[in-house]
Amino acid sequence: MRLRTDEAASRPARELIQQFEPEGRADGTEDDSELTVSIDSSAEAKGGNRDNGSVIRIEIADARSPEKNRSITEGIDPDGILTEEQQIKRAIYRVLADYFGRSLPWGILTGVKPVRFYQKTAKKFPEADTKKLLETEYLLSPGNVRLAAEIDALQEPVIASWRPKTLSLYVGIPVCPAKCSYCSFVSTVLDKKRCLLTDYLPLLENEIRQTGKLFEEYGCVVDSVYIGGGTPSVLAPDEADRLLKVLEEAFDLGNLREFCFEAGRPDTTGPELLRVLADHGVTRVCLNPQSMNADTLTAVNRLYPPEKVGEVYGQIRRAGDFDVNMDLILGLAEESEADFMRSLDEVIAMNPENITVHDLAVKKGTRVKLENGTGDSSRFRPGFFGEIRERLTDAGYLPYYMYRQKYTIGNGENIGWTRPGHESYYNIMMMAEEQTILGIGAGSSGKLFDAGADRFDRVFTVKDLRTYNSRPEELLEKKLAVYRSYLESGVIDNLRVI
Ligand code: SF4
Repeated sequence: MRLRTDEAASRPARELIQQFEPEGRADGTEDDSELTVSIDSSAEAKGGNRDNGSVIRIEIADARSPEKNRSITEGIDPDGILTEEQQIKRAIYRVLADYFGRSLPWGILTGVKPVRFYQKTAKKFPEADTKKLLETEYLLSPGNVRLAAEIDALQEPVIASWRPKTLSLYVGIPVCPAKCSYCSFVSTVLDKKRCLLTDYLPLLENEIRQTGKLFEEYGCVVDSVYIGGGTPSVLAPDEADRLLKVLEEAFDLGNLREFCFEAGRPDTTGPELLRVLADHGVTRVCLNPQSMNADTLTAVNRLYPPEKVGEVYGQIRRAGDFDVNMDLILGLAEESEADFMRSLDEVIAMNPENITVHDLAVKKGTRVKLENGTGDSSRFRPGFFGEIRERLTDAGYLPYYMYRQKYTIGNGENIGWTRPGHESYYNIMMMAEEQTILGIGAGSSGKLFDAGADRFDRVFTVKDLRTYNSRPEELLEKKLAVYRSYLESGVIDNLRVI
């Protein structure tokens, strides 16, 4: 759909068109429809009263199917609960929903984390009003309001247990044994001689040491660590042992609530590495099958048999008392609904503490996009997402965190599920944006939290390993300067806004 609009309506209109038409015209033909949005703030439009709101006019002209043309005019209430931009968005949404003949399960919520939005709304209104508002004003489906409320209820005591000056660490190992065809992360494929990784590790250790020294001076306490990637399990057992020792020396890890290590690909993990993790007090291991279907694994360049997942799962259970998370992706390489459900059932049968279901995001540059076009959501009925939720709920899992991405195959969401009492503290705090997270190493992104103002600043580190390895001192000095000014401002001592 083409768009002609005033600036004030441009962003909401674009976001909504993207939601209604994630893949452009379903039949792939040239676009014959145009959405025109104009906002009139003239005295005339306001009926001569300056306190009145503006008037928004929306038209859809469809050259191919003129019977689908739509046109509405709505007033904007300057005293409404929704901001002016939200009211504009809602008006555009109504016209688009009418034109396309369907609604969006998340209503006008685009570009925000729905659970975070629920939590912020719930700070202002009682629970019943929050639910009603989301349904009637922001136009969420009743099922998604329930989902957001359920996740909030599970997160609430975890978030409330946060203490000032506590923080989490994310340590990045952006290296993988091979590139999965759907992956849009900047992750370096391990070279035969492992040169890039060998050069990276001492630099990473230096960043860990310098960061630890600085935050220790200010009495900060680390309460969770997440070693992610890439695929951190590409580390040889002695490399992992050394990295974990450096972390223990640099930070006081005596108050950890969670210590997570991503052993994402089963073909990189074995008993020796798992023993190292257990010896260093790792509490949670991610083993991510993505699919249990042999053809799919081959098609996405994960070249190991699905049985390998069960084998490594057994090794993890034997190595220590870990919580295990397993990721699945919906929408891989022409997998049908039945294929996905088979994978889900196999994973449920293994009984991990956490299962995370991702809806495949097809971003620019991923091999899956180049090979399979922009993705095809016609494989999945709109109700299929509900069936996945039901299957997990019936198996005793609870949804505990959720986020949405652009360009997903079925316009769905990514949901983390947990056995009661096993929710990941790091994931909750990271998604809720309620704690300082220090990102260490290439590809990491940190958040410096200001609880008093209920906001945070992001700190990014270069994604590419080569760049990180070529300018380590300069990059680290810049980052430490940002940290110093954050610590000197006293913001980290702030109490949470109630
Ligand atoms: S293992 Fe993960 S990070 Fe690495 S290429 Fe595959 S999807 Fe990307």
